[in-house]
Amino acid sequence: MNTKPHLNDDCLFCKIIKGEIPSDVVYDDDFVYAFRDINPQAPTHVLVIPKTHIPSCAAVNADNAEILGPVFAAIAEVSKKENLSEGFRVISNTGKAAGQTVEHLHFHVLGGKDLSEKLIP
Ligand code: 5GP
Ligand code: ZN
Repeated sequence: MNTKPHLNDDCLFCKIIKGEIPSDVVYDDDFVYAFRDINPQAPTHVLVIPKTHIPSCAAVNADNAEILGPVFAAIAEVSKKENLSEGFRVISNTGKAAGQTVEHLHFHVLGGKDLSEKLIP
């Protein structure tokens, strides 16, 4: 992995990675951290984040995209741990108009109930 870990002192999710803000951990390895959303929108609602500060999907580039392999491997692990074999949804809000409120790349993993077939309910 060439991606150098970089955390931002002013970022909420970087503080969660550092343990400065408590969180309910679901998965943790050298590159990725996953924890329960504080305001769950489904019986399972986990946030999966890289342990390096990337503001959003829009900031992914050839230099930092290597982190996405471990992130998606962690998403699969989370789905197994949370018994989501029936199906789950992965969402990454990108930018204000899409509802992004925390500027650290994160993937919502939602499941545990029948989700709407519509992409946007
Ligand atoms: P976004 O709106 O940026 O797509 O997602 C940010 C998510 O972070 C929201 O679903 C929100 O509930 C969650 N969140 C915000 N602050 C905290 C926190 O301090 N702890 C946890 N566990 N989740 C948080
Ligand atoms: Zn951050």
